Amino acid sequence: MTRILPHDHEHRFGTRSVHAGQQPDPLAGAVMTPIYQTSTYVQEGLGRHKGYEYARTQNPTREALERNVAALEGGTYGFAFGSGLAALDALLKLLRSGDHVVCGENVYGGSHRLMERVYAQLGLTFTFVDMRDVANVERAIIPATRVVYCETPTNPMMNLVDLAAVTDLTQARGLLAVVDNTFATPFFQRPLELGADLVLHSTTKYLNGHSDMVGGLLVTRRDDLAERIGFIQNAAGGVPGPMDCWLALRGIKTLPLRMRQHDANGRRVADWLARRKDVSKLYYPGLPSHPQHELACRQMSGFGGMISLDLGDAQRARRFVESTRIFALAESLGGVESLIGHPASMTHASVPPAMRQAMGLTDSLVRLSCGIEDADDLIEDLDRAFAASMQPTAVAV
Ligand SMILES: *Cc1c(COP(=O)(O)O)cnc(C)c1O
Repeated sequence: MTRILPHDHEHRFGTRSVHAGQQPDPLAGAVMTPIYQTSTYVQEGLGRHKGYEYARTQNPTREALERNVAALEGGTYGFAFGSGLAALDALLKLLRSGDHVVCGENVYGGSHRLMERVYAQLGLTFTFVDMRDVANVERAIIPATRVVYCETPTNPMMNLVDLAAVTDLTQARGLLAVVDNTFATPFFQRPLELGADLVLHSTTKYLNGHSDMVGGLLVTRRDDLAERIGFIQNAAGGVPGPMDCWLALRGIKTLPLRMRQHDANGRRVADWLARRKDVSKLYYPGLPSHPQHELACRQMSGFGGMISLDLGDAQRARRFVESTRIFALAESLGGVESLIGHPASMTHASVPPAMRQAMGLTDSLVRLSCGIEDADDLIEDLDRAFAASMQPTAVAV
């Protein structure tokens, strides 16, 4: 169980990104946290050691990452996992057979799959609701409910959940409010400050930011939850290796710089898309035309680089995603490089088609993760892809 250091909440966000949770290494004074690539630690005598016994249980590189993200989220305890889904897996292990979870209907496809196809078999029950209206959350709560699980903004529909309103509900009923903060990151949104009990991250995305590792994190302020999650982290063992923790730590040092650029590029690209007649629907919370723009401004301090657009025609969407040169056709998001994806066949293929249609996740929907390149190049790239998507696929003669 990793608790922040006494000074980790000092200083402003950018300074904490670089320093929180890290100290010069006691052996040589290394300024950067070393990669403790070891499975075990020597004991001076029986029961006499430096607090480190076995690396599933404790690893100094992992602890630095856990403290760093805990400090950025305004939390007290951090727990790193081998992936975002391993973090969700540990979270669901807080529950017992018979317990009920109210979950946003448009959560990450893999989160939905873990709940419905793994934990439902083990006796947990789930109700998926449209959380844009908090009344839907309230209506779904039953006596067995233990957790309200939110993602905001959602992937890929960019729907928002009013976190303060949700935590009013959960606090009054003694339920756990859990927020997947992967999209906004603590740079733009801090759910614990709005009353959430737990924050979840796929470190794979914006936190690491360089598309070169997979990881997850849980953060809380609550001693009781930390005790239990620490136990589960060690007992079930879904921990990341030290190299991946080190990469994430390095990535987070530039989180504020990257997020500012993702946000600037996201706004430029969204503004440009909003003026095109061949985009039938556009989803970006930073646009005044987004139905929850006012909530976005209240709850978030920026909007980031994720944009979804509907081209109205599945064939055209296919040609579009295959025609960009800078935006790489790939799953995932949040890296320095721009990515383009087709949620219905890629990231959200595991969501039942009827549920996809109901929430607007059509076969003509395209998702952009705007990187930190020059916005003019991104716009030129998309412009070219729009032109190419108008032509039927060329046939070699
Ligand atoms: C990617 C993602 C996850 C899952 O994380 P992994 O690291 O891929 O296991 C969870 N939530 C959101 C919002 C994501 O984008």
